Amino acid sequence: MQPAYNSYSAYIRNAFGERVQKISINTGYSCPNRDGTKGLGGCTYCNINSIKPDYANAKKSVTEQLKEGIDFFSKKHTSLKYLAYFQSYTNTYSNNEELIRTYEEALSFPDVMGLVIGTRPDCISKEIIEYLHQISKTKYVSVELGIESTNDLTLQKINRCHTYAETIDAVELLAKNNLLVGGHLILGFPWESRSDLIAHAQKVSLLPLKFLKIHHLQILEHTQLAKEYKLNKEAFSFYDLQEYLLLIIEFLENLRPDIVVQRFISESPKALLLAPHWKGVKNYQFATLVEQKLKELNTWQGRLA
Ligand code: SF4
Repeated sequence: MQPAYNSYSAYIRNAFGERVQKISINTGYSCPNRDGTKGLGGCTYCNINSIKPDYANAKKSVTEQLKEGIDFFSKKHTSLKYLAYFQSYTNTYSNNEELIRTYEEALSFPDVMGLVIGTRPDCISKEIIEYLHQISKTKYVSVELGIESTNDLTLQKINRCHTYAETIDAVELLAKNNLLVGGHLILGFPWESRSDLIAHAQKVSLLPLKFLKIHHLQILEHTQLAKEYKLNKEAFSFYDLQEYLLLIIEFLENLRPDIVVQRFISESPKALLLAPHWKGVKNYQFATLVEQKLKELNTWQGRLA
């Protein structure tokens, strides 16, 4: 029987035949939306400290971070392979020579099978795309883009400093170069209606995306959104867990069936989280709820796509 949604764990099993763990690396490259090149202050929801494990520290070399990350995970699981995950900030935001040196350092580490590079749609040069294209002939290479919304008004409101048209161009260019492209979306900005959110599924289904990571909106300390929230809580409304589950079911029904869904919810540290509070539910627990609900409703990813 076909699974009701296209999960990342099934994708990894099929692609590698074994468990593969991503090891987060912090390059400290910062981001053009923080240093004034594109914008100042960053995206309104972004607290960069929400996604860094302890070992991912830009003061350490890529090799040291990989070693510490692999030591950490090899205590939990045996016979693992790894992907170097350039996660924090914008990991194509440096000169080409430095970027290539960094990627090569990661690729030369034993048992690292490839790269996952997180970046912005407006910050990746043709030269780096060509380099990654060459690497992808022998190694796994995926590029994750912050899409966040398909709605330009939202992109403006959250200070992304790029448009959805730039996302479309970047995804198409990367895919044309045989790179596996992932996208991140945030669901739940208070001014986006439910039909706006379902439209995101329909619009990203038109892109040559391989992966999608869905995040529910979380208000995190030390962000512009936190300031706005503290000033006017009434302007914000949040899905509760059950409502969000039903939203995700409808979202999946409208999503192209071959897109691999890597996550459904965010998991920011409790100490930074202002709202919403879902009792610390983890993504893998939420994924189980999604599977159960799809079964109960006899529906599946792509049913309406
Ligand atoms: S979300 Fe990404 S692009 Fe936006 S401020 Fe944070 S690191 Fe920069």
